[in-house]
Amino acid sequence: MADLCINNIRMQFSGVVALDDVSLSVKESEIFSLIGSNGSGKSTLFNCINGFNRPQKGSILFGNDDLLKKKPHEIIRCGISRTFQNVQNIPFMTVLDNILLGAHHRIDPESTVKRWLSQKQRAAEEVMGLEILDFLGIVNYEQKYMAGQPYGIQKLTEIARALVGKPKLILMDEPAAGMNDQETYEIAKIISEIRDELGITVLVVEHDMSLVMSISDRVCVLDSGEVLALGKPEQVKTHPDVIRAFLGDSADA
Ligand code: ADP
Ligand code: MG
Repeated sequence: MADLCINNIRMQFSGVVALDDVSLSVKESEIFSLIGSNGSGKSTLFNCINGFNRPQKGSILFGNDDLLKKKPHEIIRCGISRTFQNVQNIPFMTVLDNILLGAHHRIDPESTVKRWLSQKQRAAEEVMGLEILDFLGIVNYEQKYMAGQPYGIQKLTEIARALVGKPKLILMDEPAAGMNDQETYEIAKIISEIRDELGITVLVVEHDMSLVMSISDRVCVLDSGEVLALGKPEQVKTHPDVIRAFLGDSADA
């Protein structure tokens, strides 16, 4: 089973303890949400999982792989892709070329195969890229340049690039941030379909409580780098510490 097991992680940046003894596990095929106020350590935890940050203590296992022994590109090969809180698209490339960047780890730099083979590979990647754009409902944007595209398209392009990596687990950092109600509804549907139709495990950071509560199997609340609560949405929603620290009136959402 490709479960993600995070054990006793401590991540400190000089004087700032961003994560303090954080443990949680995400089971294969789960939609697991991470919530918490700004600065509570959510993005740092993603950075620890995908190898951008090196925690001082703890372990992170994905199936049999010890992620803290791997570099970011090796972690993608283990089957973990991510999206970023701030969109990371390249404006002067087309939407399709932007998403095909997510397939770069399949190119073997040592390979001596002839050029025609890489062209064949490019064609295969394009077919897959178009299928993913179709799945996300933006296939018409394929040849459009990224520059000037609406924010919703930029966010979906981020998700598409992560999916092109053929992950077993996708980490999504605030996929609905900056979206209107209709777009947020569409994102919730897409997250559910990523799990239900593509069979990908989802770990998502999100502020929109109605989205989190409607799609998640389990929710973890981080508060100042510590796990404040973890459980099913209804358990977390009614947890007194959570209501006090974070949810407030929006617990009714
Ligand atoms: P969240 O995503 O929950 O808003 P972050 O994980 O981005 O929070 O940040 C958690 C804490 O760690 C914050 O105090 C932030 O300033 C600090 N932090 C995150 N990354 C770095 C870094 N590279 N260098 C120094 N401090 C950092
Ligand atoms: Mg963040």
